[in-house]
Amino acid sequence: MNTPSHLILNLALLRRPVAPVMTWPILLGALIPDAAMFVFYGWARWQRLPEQTIWSEAYYSQPWQTIFAVGNSIPLGLFTAALGYGLKRPWLGLLGASMVLHHLADLPLHHDDAHQHFWPLSSVRFISPISYWDVDHFGRLGATLEMTLVLVATVYLLPRLSFTTSQGLLVVTVALSSIAYGLLLLTPP
Ligand SMILES: [Zn+2]
Repeated sequence: MNTPSHLILNLALLRRPVAPVMTWPILLGALIPDAAMFVFYGWARWQRLPEQTIWSEAYYSQPWQTIFAVGNSIPLGLFTAALGYGLKRPWLGLLGASMVLHHLADLPLHHDDAHQHFWPLSSVRFISPISYWDVDHFGRLGATLEMTLVLVATVYLLPRLSFTTSQGLLVVTVALSSIAYGLLLLTPP
């Protein structure tokens, strides 16, 4: 899934029963699994790698694959949630829960870019037949599923956000996601 989708979905699913002050740990937990990817992209641009090479070669190289595996580790996410529970730190528990929710949402929507979700216990990858972006692997279906979930989450979240700024930010994010979705649908087969 795309990073903004994770932020919106996790906020909709985890925020409700707790105080709004927990918004930040949820957003952070939703962001952590993808954080290394942004660092990677910055590094690759700095190395002046062509866009094609970045996503077809460099992305699959070491040590990047291991670095990506750390953030995408379900065991580490569960450990973080358990640690928060054990130490009676609700923010840490929610951060871990939000990480795991991100992992579970990625699991059925990544084809050959699938993550090592069980690192460090196993390097196995679940290669889903459906991708959230690759039109050669039902990308239109994957993207439609993702966009539908995001829209439902947005309708639910909008009236529950306390600040106009947060609502505005949500609307702008969803508008940009919709444009990206539209462009994907227009990709020639
Ligand atoms: Zn992800």
